Amino acid sequence: MSSQTAAPASDVLASPTRLYGAYVFDMDGTIYLGDHLLPGAKRMIEELRARGIPVRFLSNNPTKDPEQYADKLARLGLPTDVADIANTVVTTTRWLQEHHPDAVLFPISEEPLKKALVRAGFRLSEKPEEIDIVIASYDRGFDYRKLQIAFDAIWFHKRAFLIQTNPDRFCPFPGGRGEPDCAAMTAAIEACTGTTCRVSLGKPSPIMLREAMAGLDVDLADAVMVGDRLQTDIQMALDTGMTSALVLTGEATADDTRARTPGQRPSYVLDRVDRLIPAHIWDELGWTDHDRT
Ligand SMILES: [Mg+2]
Repeated sequence: MSSQTAAPASDVLASPTRLYGAYVFDMDGTIYLGDHLLPGAKRMIEELRARGIPVRFLSNNPTKDPEQYADKLARLGLPTDVADIANTVVTTTRWLQEHHPDAVLFPISEEPLKKALVRAGFRLSEKPEEIDIVIASYDRGFDYRKLQIAFDAIWFHKRAFLIQTNPDRFCPFPGGRGEPDCAAMTAAIEACTGTTCRVSLGKPSPIMLREAMAGLDVDLADAVMVGDRLQTDIQMALDTGMTSALVLTGEATADDTRARTPGQRPSYVLDRVDRLIPAHIWDELGWTDHDRT
């Protein structure tokens, strides 16, 4: 992905010249990196909020509660209502409430998803003969016992079907390492049962975007999806007709953008996230590139 001989980004950079009706942000690599806000993130979010423009945050990571993201944003200086944050714990729970409210579930997941499902009134079970839906997730406690339960529920009892919280192969860490993510659990279950995962509740699924935009009276075309990954953040926007902005502060590089056909490129490419605020407003506010907040 990242090129060793990256050309300068200047020819791909393009910033909006107007404000939009709503903004949806990926978090890691877009708003913060590890434990630090990225340059301009704080003043940009504060400026949008001051103008009454709705701002929402998304994450594919189901190993945290939305409350944990709200706490982190607050700790970094961006207090955020938990209702403005949707991760795959939220999207998975809401999708199940809407489509399968009476299903007995077997989540192969960490505690936050289990807690949210129980709080939403679902019954969880490890008895294969009564499981309706197996949920593959990013589960660092995944083991053979869980795989056997999924196998029995789907293949032996021919009863359950498979969904996943998110399609990510691995979760990247600062410094180039990472952890196997939900795609690994999904693939193990698919491989032994011969089944195919029916639904994915994370980016780039449009289901996640619908959840993020829930309650907002804004046209998708007048909303911007902002993120650092082409295959998830930007792809979701392209698939739904939403405006998209790629920031080069996380995973994707200018070369990754150049490698895409013109129709598959983001609407905007930004070297820093506060370029979402048009240049004429920067001038009014006296902002410069040297500001770090
Ligand atoms: Mg990201």
